[in-house]
Amino acid sequence: MPRGWNDSGNDFVKKRAVVIGNGAQGLAAAWKLLDTGMFEVEVVADKAGLSPPNALWEIPPYNVQPEVLVTKWAKATFGEYLSMRESFGEDVGVCYPVPLYALTRNELPGDHPQKHNLANYRHGPEVLKEEILQRATAGTAHEIYKDAEAYDTITVNTRKNFAWLRKRIQELGGRFSRVELKDLSEAWTVGDRGKVDLVVNCTGMGAYDLAKDKAVKPIKGQVVHVSMDEVRCAMSDYESRSYAIPADGEWLEVGGTSEEGVWDRAPDQAILDDLVNRASEMLPRLKEVMKSDDADVWTGLRPGREGGVRFGIDKSRAKGEPVVIHCYGHGGAGVITSLGCANDVAALAIDALQIIQSKSKL
Ligand SMILES: Cc1cc2nc3c(=O)[nH]c(=O)nc-3n(C[C@H](O)[C@H](O)[C@H](O)COP(=O)(O)OP(=O)(O)OC[C@H]3O[C@@H](n4cnc5c(N)ncnc54)[C@H](O)[C@@H]3O)c2cc1C
Repeated sequence: MPRGWNDSGNDFVKKRAVVIGNGAQGLAAAWKLLDTGMFEVEVVADKAGLSPPNALWEIPPYNVQPEVLVTKWAKATFGEYLSMRESFGEDVGVCYPVPLYALTRNELPGDHPQKHNLANYRHGPEVLKEEILQRATAGTAHEIYKDAEAYDTITVNTRKNFAWLRKRIQELGGRFSRVELKDLSEAWTVGDRGKVDLVVNCTGMGAYDLAKDKAVKPIKGQVVHVSMDEVRCAMSDYESRSYAIPADGEWLEVGGTSEEGVWDRAPDQAILDDLVNRASEMLPRLKEVMKSDDADVWTGLRPGREGGVRFGIDKSRAKGEPVVIHCYGHGGAGVITSLGCANDVAALAIDALQIIQSKSKL
C-alpha cells in the first residue's frame, strides 16, 4: 500500500487518483497531485492530447471564459513556467522573454487593463518603430499600423514541455496507461491497484461523450508553419485577427482561424488562403515563403464550452463513488492556464478527500 508522511510526521496511506487525459490539463493536474505527496496517480488516455506545437501566453486568454478565473490561472501559470525554466533549464521548452506586439490601424482606447501584470509593458505609436518589429515586418509596421502595445511574454514548445512533464510524473511515481473509457464509471476500476478515491476528468473535447456534456463545442483552428528567421517577436493584428509566434528559433507559427462547431480536423484550403492573405499585411514576405517545401499546416480543435470551463466537483455522483473533479473546456488557452488550474485541482482534491475522511470517521 503506497504510504506518505503528513506535516506532523505521521505516516498515512496515499489516496488513489485517476487523471483522464494526457493533454496540457491532464499532465499538469497529475504533476500537481503527485507534488502534494498525498496521491498515487495514474494517467489514462486513449491517445496523446492535441496541443498546438507552440503556445503563446497572453491575457485575456483567447476563446475561453470565465475571464476572471482563466486570467487568474494564466497569471499563476506564467510564474510556474518561469520557475520551471529557472530550475530545470531549456529542456522544459519554455522561452522567455519573447516580445509580443499587438498592432492596430486605429488608436487603442487606453493602456491594457492588466498592464501591471505584464512585463516591460509599452504603449503608443513609438512602439511601432522598435527595431525587432521593424525587422519582422520588413520595415512596414509604422506605415500600416497607427498604434501598438507590447510586453514580454512566454512561448511554450509543447512537444518538449509535455515530454518533460511526462518524465517528471514518472519520476514522482505516476503511471500512464492507454485506455479509451466508454463511460466515466470505467475510471472507478482502472488498473490493478484497488479502490480509486479521486477521478480528475481532463478530457477536453472528449467530455462531449464521456461527461455527456453537450455544451462542449469544438473551435477549429488552423496554423501554418514557415521558416522566417527575421521574425524574432510574436505579433498580433487586431483588425485582421492574424498572429505570428516564433518557436524556439526553429520555425514561425502563423494563425489564426476560428471555426465554431466544426469537428472535422482536415485542413480547409479556402480558410488557409484567407489566413495567408490576412497575415501577409503583417508579414509582407509570407506569400513568397508559403511556396517553400518547408511550409506546413497544422489543425486542431480548441475544446470550447458554452458557459465556459467546467471546473469543480461533480455533485451528482452517488455515495460510494470516487470524488470526481471536472476540468475541461479551456478553449484557446488550455496550455497557458494549465499549471494555475492544476494548483486549484490539487487544492480542491485535498479539501474534498479530507471532508470524506472526517465523515467516514464519525
Ligand atoms: C490552432 C490552435 C492554436 C492554439 N494556441 C494556443 C495557445 O497559444 N495557447 C494555449 O494555451 N492554447 C492554445 N490552443 C488551445 C489548446 O490547444 C487547448 O486548450 C488544450 O490543448 C486543451 O488541453 P486539454 O488537456 O484540456 O485537452 P486535450 O489536449 O484535448 O486532451 C484531452 C485528453 O483526453 C483524452 N481523452 C478524451 N476522451 C477520452 C476517453 N473517452 N478516454 C480516454 N481518454 C480520453 C485524450 O486522448 C487527450 O489525451 C490552441 C489550439 C489550436 C487549435
